[in-house]
Order: sequence, then structure tokens, then C-alpha cells
Amino acid sequence: MSGGSEHGVLWVISAPSGAGKTSLARALVQTTPRLRTSVSYTTRPPRPGETEGEDYHFVGMETFSAMAERGEFLEYARVHGNGYGTSEAWVKNQLFAGDDCLLEIDWQGARQVRERLRGQMISIFILPPSVAALETRLRDRGQDTEAVIERRLAAAREELLHYDEFDYLVVNDHFEEALSDLQSIVHAEHLRCGRQQHAQHERLRGLLGIG
Ligand code: GDP
Ligand code: ADP
Ligand code: 5GP
Repeated sequence: MSGGSEHGVLWVISAPSGAGKTSLARALVQTTPRLRTSVSYTTRPPRPGETEGEDYHFVGMETFSAMAERGEFLEYARVHGNGYGTSEAWVKNQLFAGDDCLLEIDWQGARQVRERLRGQMISIFILPPSVAALETRLRDRGQDTEAVIERRLAAAREELLHYDEFDYLVVNDHFEEALSDLQSIVHAEHLRCGRQQHAQHERLRGLLGIG
């Protein structure tokens, strides 16, 4: 994937489980034109209310491993004991069509994408307001078993240790404020000179008296 202002932006959002990344990503996509979330492949079972193809592509370990071996993942990682991976083909199609793409992935995946697409991704880490709030949110979400919640809380610190590998930090205390922070980041990126050159090509030609 080569750079270029006509391509979409690859956004990566990471956070410990329960920090609110899925809720924030959904709200951001709803309010941002030409931004879509990549639907990951996972070996974890669906939660109540999760839909195949919308929340995840739910696959068995055999299918997941075969996809990994065929090199179909832009990145993949083992998180909380399950396999998670991003389809490279989907992301490429989206970016080449000029649309933005959002990945909700863990720090290991973010690191792989950063290494593969150096300079092309913009990453955001979501911080929960406190450990107590994280625990409350995971429990109140009411979708995981006690054992799964315990495992996710134990893994939160490991995820948090990697906050400084990201371009932006957003605290999700008050949801609307965190959403507004995300919208500001996206808006500023779209105003970058390098990205405007393509969109403003005709205007610039007119202003400069070219052609
Ligand atoms: P959540 O953290 O409560 O949203 O729980 P999930 O089960 O949806 O996700 C578990 C972890 O897997 C999180 O850290 C996600 O960021 C991560 N994850 C989800 N999809 C992917 C993926 O495609 N690739 C990678 N590397 N991580 C993923
Ligand atoms: P993640 O995808 O990071 O695991 P979710 O988006 O599923 O997190 O959010 C975890 C829970 O916390 C959900 O029940 C969600 O409604 C709730 N939540 C998200 N943001 C906030 C917030 N700012 N204040 C209170 N609750 C929140
Ligand atoms: P959950 O099972 O609660 O939906 O997600 C658990 C974790 O997996 C989250 O931290 C989420 O960011 C991560 N995750 C989801 N999809 C992907 C993915 O495609 N790649 C990577 N690396 N992590 C993912």
C-alpha cells in the first residue's frame, strides 16, 4: 500500500477491554462520512446480541489458522486466549477507494500495522477514567462471564502499558467529550495540507491561474 493523499486514512483505536472503544468507534462512524469499521475475524464465541458479519466474522481455529497461513491478515494476534485478525483485502479496498478505515484492535495488532504501513496509520489509545470505572463498565455491560471479566481486568494493565506507542490519548470519562475529542482528531487530519491537495486540486489551479 503506497501513500498518497487520494487514499483514505487508516485509523487504529486500542484500549483495555471495557474502556469504551466499541461504543466510541460506533458513534464516530455514525457521525463521520466515508469512515467504516473493519469487521475482524475472531475465534471467540459470539456474545448475546452480536451478529455474524456485523460485530465480527466468527470462525473456528482451523479456519483462522488457515487464513493466517495464507497471509490473508493485515495483522493478527492472540488476545484474552482467542485469535483476532484483520482482513488485508478489505482494508486495502477501502483505502484505495478513498474511504477511511477504522481498526479496533489490541496493542500487538497496532504494532504490526505500524511496522507494515509506517507513516500511513494514525493511532488513538482510549484511557478509562480509573481502574474502578473499568471494572464497573465490564460488569455493567453484562455480557461476559465472571471468569472472562476477571481475565480481561487482569489483562488491562498489559494493554495500558503500551499507551505511549500511540499518536493520541483520549480519556473516556464523559462519553460525549471523548467522542468530541475523536471527532476533532479526525477533522484535523482531514485538513492536513497533503490530504487537501487532492480535494482542492481544481480550486488551487484556479487560484494559481494554472490551465
Ligand atoms: P472488547 O475489548 O470488550 O471490545 O472485547 P473483544 O472481544 O471485542 O476484543 C478483545 C480484544 O481483541 C481487544 O483488545 C480488541 O482490540 C482485540 N481485537 C479485536 N479484533 C482484533 C483484530 O482483528 N486483531 C487484533 N490484533 N486484535 C483484535
Ligand atoms: P470496549 O469495546 O472497549 O470493550 P464498550 O464500548 O463495550 O468497551 O464499553 C464497555 C461498557 O461501558 C459498555 O456497557 C458501554 O455502554 C459503557 N461505556 C462506554 N463509555 C462510557 C462512558 N463514558 N461512561 C459510562 N459508561 C460507558
Ligand atoms: P472483544 O472480544 O471484547 O470484542 O475484544 C477483545 C479485544 O480484542 C479488544 O481489545 C479488541 O480491540 C481486540 N480486537 C478485536 N478485533 C481485533 C483485531 O482484528 N485485531 C487485533 N489485534 N485485536 C482485535
